[in-house]
Amino acid sequence: METRVKPYNKESIAEGAEIIRRGGVVAFRTETVYGLGANAYDAAAVRQIFRAKGRPSDNPLIVHLPSVGGIETVAREVPDYAGILIDRFMPGPLSLVLKKRPLIPDAVTAGLDTVAVRVPADAAAREFIAAAGVPVAAPSANLSGRPSPTAAAHVLADMNGKIPLILGEELAVVGLESTVLDCTVYPPQILREGGITREQIEAALGITLSGAEKNSDKPRAPGMKYKHYAPNIPLYYAANGRETALIDKLEEIGADGGAAVIVLTRAAAELFCELDCDVLIAGEGLKESARNLYSVLRSAEKIFENLLVLGAPDDGIGRAINNRLEKACGGNLL
Ligand code: AMP
Ligand code: MG
Repeated sequence: METRVKPYNKESIAEGAEIIRRGGVVAFRTETVYGLGANAYDAAAVRQIFRAKGRPSDNPLIVHLPSVGGIETVAREVPDYAGILIDRFMPGPLSLVLKKRPLIPDAVTAGLDTVAVRVPADAAAREFIAAAGVPVAAPSANLSGRPSPTAAAHVLADMNGKIPLILGEELAVVGLESTVLDCTVYPPQILREGGITREQIEAALGITLSGAEKNSDKPRAPGMKYKHYAPNIPLYYAANGRETALIDKLEEIGADGGAAVIVLTRAAAELFCELDCDVLIAGEGLKESARNLYSVLRSAEKIFENLLVLGAPDDGIGRAINNRLEKACGGNLL
């Protein structure tokens, strides 16, 4: 199958919508990352997403809607406090986990009684979902375990020949996946940190939330137990403040180790400017670094043999960045 990349426009949106209606799979840009979408009501179509990604079937997908008005068509219970979050943050990079309606098949939810719903802020993505005429179930459009795609070229690298169409050529502006918030409990629980920060949710609801659960044998969000976001070369992660551990590792790897240091702010780069290695600055500040992070990982793996990353300060979007890096390092914590 030939995979074509098209910018969002009237014709490409109509073509993508038609593929979805016929039970096919389309990659589409959103403000977070590119999604790999299929008709959320069609279990056979949804199973093709899992096949294309090599995704374990017990890792559920997010159901994407063109407007918040559609939420009650897929969810049967929307608590009052969730209504506040919907008004405040949707459309946007926030996915709410709610009790599902029976018409959402098990293939989407991995057999759970809950469904994650999101309305993208990307207006073109919303137009595409509206044109499809059905909710669009989608995970990120990468091969399972790889960094999420934030550019059409990333999707093409992972999905070429497996899907007919990639919609949207420009970059995903947030660059990290949505925040996943379990609203079947109170207080709600963050299952994945993301584009809407814990601080924003706490301020909107006037409460304090506990953190996202770390990897455990019984993860609340099924996807939490798998390797994620990883480049195909070793990645070492030093939490913010552990610069010395990073420098020690750099020395251990040695000059022939093809190592590069990735930092998330220009200020952090200064800590390493005396060292004899490449220093990649993901962005001037954390917002820009979040946008560029996966792109930097995908570029760096082609050039270097080892990556060492210094984490961000642990608040706001920094926490979401650190969460991705912690998972991407596959236990290589410094
Ligand atoms: P992805 O967009 O590839 O990161 O995958 C969707 C994410 O949403 C995964 O991390 C899932 O664990 C999470 N998710 C989707 N549906 C649910 C649900 N019903 N309950 C908990 N987490 C969910
Ligand atoms: Mg993903």
